[in-house]
Amino acid sequence: MKLATVVIEGIETAGVIDGGLFYTMESIRDQVEGIPNDLNTFIEQSSEWLPVLAELDLTDAEGVAVESLQFASPIRPNKNIFCIGKNYAAHAREFDGTPPENMIVFTKAPTTVIGHKQPISLHAEVTNELDYEGELAIVIGKKGRAISREEAEDYIFGYTILNDVTARDLQAKHQQFFLGKSLDGSCPIGPWIVTKDEVGDACDLEIETKVNGEVRQSARTSLFLFPIDEIIATLSKGMTLEPGDIIATGTPAGVGKGFKPPRYLKDGDVIEICVESIGTLVNKVQS
Ligand code: MG
Repeated sequence: MKLATVVIEGIETAGVIDGGLFYTMESIRDQVEGIPNDLNTFIEQSSEWLPVLAELDLTDAEGVAVESLQFASPIRPNKNIFCIGKNYAAHAREFDGTPPENMIVFTKAPTTVIGHKQPISLHAEVTNELDYEGELAIVIGKKGRAISREEAEDYIFGYTILNDVTARDLQAKHQQFFLGKSLDGSCPIGPWIVTKDEVGDACDLEIETKVNGEVRQSARTSLFLFPIDEIIATLSKGMTLEPGDIIATGTPAGVGKGFKPPRYLKDGDVIEICVESIGTLVNKVQS
């Protein structure tokens, strides 16, 4: 099942995508009484709503063509987005050397989040080195702490695509990653969330990033240094994970900084990140 949040007449509305059409939660309420109209609440209550949605008959419901939609981020995170750094060996090598022995974890502020096709600001007043990072992202569906690798799958709601846009100069200057990772609008997410049952093995998906149509990143998630179950187990050891938490799993080789000379983003660049079984997240850079 694909779930999205779109903007209709200025209001963010959640819904389901089926066969190229989007159905607002509002439009299916006569079949599914009380279904939440926002995906944060929906995910929190997903054990109740997912089985009901699976039975839904959309034959008589009125859908809107997906191409005509104005997307928002599927969910508005209540806290920082968790990010795994250098989770592909080839990216670790292009960045600054050897792959990490222990998982690198940093976060992005919730104010970074934007949706599919929303513009990424160039932020020329604070950075000259804006870079893209195409990533698969995990959406947590159930609250938990000290989750074992064996149990990790139970805590996943689904997956989406995320662009971990980074100001490389700020990332280097301030030592810790936070500022360089948290410029407003530097975390496009979407276009939608796909529930885990439709994704299959998320540790074996093709991931590709194009800038202006040119392939820059091409890899498979089977190359993760720290696979998804280990990410969830490590993060939750002493910290509670909650429904709606988003975890970016790291980016493959081929970021702008990895080229000689580096190829940072400029006004008008279009970034497309395609992840198998999920879709394509597209955003344009705008000064
Ligand atoms: Mg990243």
